[in-house]
Amino acid sequence: MRSNRIIDAGWLLSEIVGPKRDSLYAHLRREALICDGHTGDSGEPSVSTSRNASVTERAAMQLYDIRNLEQDLNYLEGEMLLAIRHYAEHQQKVERFRAGGVAPTKPSGMCDQTGKEGAIEWGDPLCPMPAVKGGMCQAHYTAWYRHRKANGIDTSKDYEPA
Ligand SMILES: [Zn+2]
Repeated sequence: MRSNRIIDAGWLLSEIVGPKRDSLYAHLRREALICDGHTGDSGEPSVSTSRNASVTERAAMQLYDIRNLEQDLNYLEGEMLLAIRHYAEHQQKVERFRAGGVAPTKPSGMCDQTGKEGAIEWGDPLCPMPAVKGGMCQAHYTAWYRHRKANGIDTSKDYEPA
């Protein structure tokens, strides 16, 4: 049987990549502070010599690099989470697939965000909570509601008799 790469990735995330994350942001912040010390923000009287100018320029370039490194960390985290969510949704699709072509659904009574606007951003296909409103748990109903409010989508027809 093929090895479970998802479990391997999960281990990598929880044991190596995840624990390292915060310290990397802290590292970049520290490095940025060091650069700040060379860009004239330190409050030291500035002496205009060509040597100082090049130190300042180098520090500014390094700050730029630091910002890029930080933005990439942030961007890649988002992509990673999105990929996991896509994968989980696909798992559900597979779970629901029946050769007979019967439209399968999540067991009724469970939170199900299928087909809701922007569910890929705010939803969790594996949400184990019972549905209380709009076929979703309270937290996901609220997330759906906020998503639509934020995007100018009508929410006035939400009311469902319990
Ligand atoms: Zn939910």
